[in-house]
Amino acid sequence: MFTMEIDITNIILIIAFIIIVIYLIYDSYARKPRKRVQVVRELLVCTSCKFTVEKDFEPGDFIGMIKGKCPSCGSNLKVKAIYAVEKK
Ligand SMILES: [Zn+2]
Repeated sequence: MFTMEIDITNIILIIAFIIIVIYLIYDSYARKPRKRVQVVRELLVCTSCKFTVEKDFEPGDFIGMIKGKCPSCGSNLKVKAIYAVEKK
């Protein structure tokens, strides 16, 4: 009888252990962090009419760089800010 009880205790422990392991495996899959994709954007501001437009950052661009013409007044567009945003 005594050995039987020990066996049952062991079985319960083993089952509990298996459940914990399965739970941990399941949990690590379920909580798999979604890949956070970031994109670098830049803010272009017109030097005369304050028109602003946001564009994708291109390598080599820097803050203060003249980039393109303002679509509303034809003045230079300046890179005002470069930042990363999370892609939705
Ligand atoms: Zn302008």
